[in-house]
Amino acid sequence: MNAVPQGASLGSSLGSCATGPKIVQERGQREVFCGLTGIVWLHRKIQDAFFLVVGSRTCAHLIQSAAGVMIFAEPRFATAIIDERDLAGLADIDDELDRVVTRLIERRPDIKLLFLVGSCPSEVIKLDLSRAAQRLSQQMTPNVRVLAYSGSGIETTFTQGEDACLSALVAQAQRADAAQKPSLLVVGALADAVEDQFRRLFAQMGIERVDFLPARRAADMPMIGPGTKFLLAQPFLTDTARALEALGAQHLPALYPLGAEGVAEWLRAAARAFGVSRETFEAVIAAPRARAEKSLERWRPHLAGKRVFFFPDSQLEPPMARFLARELGMEIVEIGAPYVDRRRLAEELALLPPDTPIVEGQDVERQLDRLRAARPDLAVCGLGLANPLEAEGFATKWSIELVFTPVQGFEQAGDLAELFARPLMRRELLEI
Ligand code: SF4
Repeated sequence: MNAVPQGASLGSSLGSCATGPKIVQERGQREVFCGLTGIVWLHRKIQDAFFLVVGSRTCAHLIQSAAGVMIFAEPRFATAIIDERDLAGLADIDDELDRVVTRLIERRPDIKLLFLVGSCPSEVIKLDLSRAAQRLSQQMTPNVRVLAYSGSGIETTFTQGEDACLSALVAQAQRADAAQKPSLLVVGALADAVEDQFRRLFAQMGIERVDFLPARRAADMPMIGPGTKFLLAQPFLTDTARALEALGAQHLPALYPLGAEGVAEWLRAAARAFGVSRETFEAVIAAPRARAEKSLERWRPHLAGKRVFFFPDSQLEPPMARFLARELGMEIVEIGAPYVDRRRLAEELALLPPDTPIVEGQDVERQLDRLRAARPDLAVCGLGLANPLEAEGFATKWSIELVFTPVQGFEQAGDLAELFARPLMRRELLEI
């Protein structure tokens, strides 16, 4: 857990997005996980990758507890613990790292992609992990590629670890030349079942070349070039999007694929870019969209009219709030988000009720004061805040579940609504 004092509190209005609500910035004590947490879902997604955290015992504990009680015969993440050393000891660390990696790869020939993941301790910051990755990659080519990124709590919050990991993959991606046929790239780790559903829908629309980043296997990572048109599946991939654009790829702005409306508009952006006719598009999405809308009906009575407060955690907060307000009739008290990428969230911000307070960054004490004053029905927050808030009588939803659970796509719309409805239903039962 990362609780970093960021200096004196200040609240400053940054003005409003051209079409959306006003965004206020806050700086103060933060209560968010660091980017190492992303390893928990990324190691499941890339099936022949290994994540070696170069860090401290704290990092090892964080990863172990975030991964819960999972027991693996052949785990695909580990922590190389770096003890305190002075600068003179750094050369030894390089040698040690080489030894650890060599032993690991000899023992585990199934590993094709190895990530060295940096962390906060000063001994690790002094290391040049990118250079180490380059050196090790050269030694192990062509069997294993080694990449580096930082999951440090000083540089990253919770979901930014995925952004850093995918940026590293884009930097090493094979380049497609301008003559290559246009292809669609979906960017952001999705559960395999969700990915399969999207593949089927794109195929039914007639979009032939569709890739996903990250791919399930190292050898299948997509080529990228000026013919690549990409949809973001997650709103926290700012650096990855920028890296893709630097290679000539084109972003397709859209809502994020959450809820019946979000999924339909996300798919529509691809359909438009690939010249799919309106008739074909509507015919392809009609049945799954109807199923998604039907699945929401069950949860609407539990959520409509209820007031929800988002603490900043995953950067998913604005699209989640849009979904809850527009499709389930909830009232949004406040949207906290660690970072609001105005460009990649423009479509989302435009659909939020215009007077919704959006707070970027965090000063947790001030935020708690506002929560207590507003007394919402539901607080969406990190694990560290959930128990104390429950003890104060608030119903809470762990925001980490919104990232760990497959929630994108038509078939998951009902599951997403259920995640918010359950804590309210539980509280209603307790109050009877
Ligand atoms: Fe803590 Fe930093 Fe390690 Fe994250 S990277 S667990 S914030 S020491």
